[in-house]
Amino acid sequence: MKSLGNIRRSFAPWTDPSAKPYISFKNVTKKFGDFTAVDDLSLNIYNREFFALLGASGCGKSTLLRMLAGFEQPTTGEIVLDDQNLAGRPPYRRPVNMMFQSYALFPHMTVEKNIAFGLRQDGMPKDEIADRVGQMLKLVKLEQFARRKPNQLSGGQRQRVALARSLAKRPKVLLLDEPLGALDKKLREETQFELMDLQQSLGLTFVVVTHDQEEAMTMADRIAVMSHGKVVQVATPAEIYEAPNCRFVADFIGDVNILDGNVTSAQSGMVEISVDSGFTVRTAAGDAPSVGSRASLAIRPEKLRVAPRPPANPSLNAAEGEIWDIAYLGDMTVFHVKLKSGQVVKASSLNAVRAVEEPFTYDQSVWVSFDENAGVLLKD
Ligand code: ATP
Repeated sequence: MKSLGNIRRSFAPWTDPSAKPYISFKNVTKKFGDFTAVDDLSLNIYNREFFALLGASGCGKSTLLRMLAGFEQPTTGEIVLDDQNLAGRPPYRRPVNMMFQSYALFPHMTVEKNIAFGLRQDGMPKDEIADRVGQMLKLVKLEQFARRKPNQLSGGQRQRVALARSLAKRPKVLLLDEPLGALDKKLREETQFELMDLQQSLGLTFVVVTHDQEEAMTMADRIAVMSHGKVVQVATPAEIYEAPNCRFVADFIGDVNILDGNVTSAQSGMVEISVDSGFTVRTAAGDAPSVGSRASLAIRPEKLRVAPRPPANPSLNAAEGEIWDIAYLGDMTVFHVKLKSGQVVKASSLNAVRAVEEPFTYDQSVWVSFDENAGVLLKD
């Protein structure tokens, strides 16, 4: 992992206009009867990318993955992989392998037989199979479990067997549908790093479907946020979090406060908004809306300050309220502050020092404030 950090940091083929995508969805639509599960979707994924499809249940992410694997055919549009149009090509003739959430391991077979299954079917010579299975067991650190059956393993170990089995045939692309869904939180976190490690060391392209935003943020080079069969934003985890392109993405990823209001001034990249909550917001805006239009500022809880006294300039980016709720989460505390208007905003602060006494109490009068570049102006 450590030595791969630098490679990862400079890995951004999507920023290079001359880089060729490895996988392209071109105007892909998938209908089930009258229902449109995937709606005229275009998307490029690059070689060696760890790509995540993120969205709420039913948004069409699994359907997209299944079309790439060849289990479903697009109603219209095309999917191109490594310059080859995949139309009409059956799953077993695509250089992709899919790992399902349920792992689908054969219960009566040992770990090594499970891993060897696909290779046997392909007619690989016995000694080569033994070599490959040995490599795979080593890769997923299960050498000592080779003779066990799936029901003699933990959930995390079963997950690693499924992974080894999917990788044994050396697919160029591994598709993972909610791969860590069955694991508990701690194991899931550990396994996320193992997956990233494996993907990088084998130089593969991973496309993972998840509804877990933290998982997508941790593992992926880029995330496509999906809603109703469409991609709403494709960007790196940091961009998605810091610069969501619409209210849906801002709301979907992490916690956010949204301040709606009317634009009262817009010049030199700065916009002032008279927000419905009764104070004035001044914020940086690349693409400034016109004076008189409605606008919304999305601001993350960690970017709001809570203080018992007003800030130096209480007439801008500051509002008075009272502590409505306090959620102590161990590493941080989240304060729900009810503004004078009635809007409740969330502000979080890291518990960097061991706080024995809570500095704020319920119903205490406080001020929330934030910097001019703390929020993102949303288009819709
Ligand atoms: P989840 O996280 O719940 O798996 P998803 O985003 O992966 O959700 P899909 O499985 O892609 O969603 O399904 C998208 C929509 O298409 C859903 O509304 C689903 O009911 C519908 N759908 C999927 N497969 C079929 C099918 N074979 N026939 C009819 N409708 C389907």
